[in-house]
Amino acid sequence: MKIFTVIGARPQFVKAAALSRVFQQYDYIDEVVVHTGQHFDYNMSEVFFEEMKIKKPSINLDINGVSHGKMTGRMMEKLEEQMLLTKPDVVLIYGDTNSTLAGSIAASKLGIKVAHVEAGLRSFNWEMPEEINRILTDRVSSFLFCPTDIAKKNLQLEGFDNFDARVDVVGDVMYDAALHYKAQIDVEDIAAWNLNEKYILCTLHRAENTDSAEKLKIIVDTLNEIHQSEMQVVIPLHPRTKQKLIDYGLTLHVKLINPVGYFDMIKLMSNASLIITDSGGVQKEAYFFKKKCVTLRTETEWLELVNEGVNALTEINSLQIRQKVSDMLRRKVSFDNNLYGNGDASQKICEILRNYG
Ligand code: UDP
Repeated sequence: MKIFTVIGARPQFVKAAALSRVFQQYDYIDEVVVHTGQHFDYNMSEVFFEEMKIKKPSINLDINGVSHGKMTGRMMEKLEEQMLLTKPDVVLIYGDTNSTLAGSIAASKLGIKVAHVEAGLRSFNWEMPEEINRILTDRVSSFLFCPTDIAKKNLQLEGFDNFDARVDVVGDVMYDAALHYKAQIDVEDIAAWNLNEKYILCTLHRAENTDSAEKLKIIVDTLNEIHQSEMQVVIPLHPRTKQKLIDYGLTLHVKLINPVGYFDMIKLMSNASLIITDSGGVQKEAYFFKKKCVTLRTETEWLELVNEGVNALTEINSLQIRQKVSDMLRRKVSFDNNLYGNGDASQKICEILRNYG
């Protein structure tokens, strides 16, 4: 059975690692990995392949640094060529990036079945490019692998019970990855960063926050204040955010580090007192590593975290962010409800695809 995996951005490397590992256990599954090149710096891409032993891409399309339309179009063209050459049984795509959308449209128009991992997630915010990517991708997918019951419900509300598509709640492949890779490292080993005993880990890269000078200024000023008066703030700075700070003439006076590989990220998350983020994946990982989280957004695709009391959403407003951070640092919560399955989502996906093949 030939599976054609499309990946291109950092969160997809983590998700694909979980499944790639399972596929490698079966001789009759032949996975062909295509990297669109959306993320290309060593520490945004290659380090994940090295550490996590993801199957090496057969080709890197090197498409990046252009507008959404150009990027998606160029990816579709190149992916179509590769799909025609490879003739896969299934095209496997992850999450909600332009690589996801390009892969799903190219495959479905060639009549190849599309399998979408992380199907059914919705923020209900159409201003997010990711929301458009998710909705369009889900609609042309034949296998919709939902991480949560809420995701399945979202699909049902959009009429998926009436479509010729298979919807399964399998759990979250990022949880599989977190369990597997955490067991391979010494999570206490954070001496290299020389951090304070207590620190807040922060990641920041969503376009809705970084592409507005006004919003980014509020976030920068607020993080600087928290770092000064509440607790050390540590940020592995995303290249997009780094560039925007330069463009807008803003300066973060916190502990800035370069983006880290997944193993280092596990260590930094595991030892943090709190996580502040606008990332989708990091909100869940905070839960996997039993950390409370403040999300710099007013909506989330991971509502169960908010319902559980472990994640607080906030407007981009200095007072509100500081209040939520202070409240969360003091709040007593539980992380015992296994919101994202049992760590066997990848195995379940593999079984479903195997039975189809
Ligand atoms: N991540 C990482 N190093 C970093 C920042 C994030 O390995 O310096 C990992 C993080 O642990 C998660 C994934 O990258 O597994 C999330 O990617 P990102 O936040 O870029 O994307 P999103 O989840 O928002 O789509």
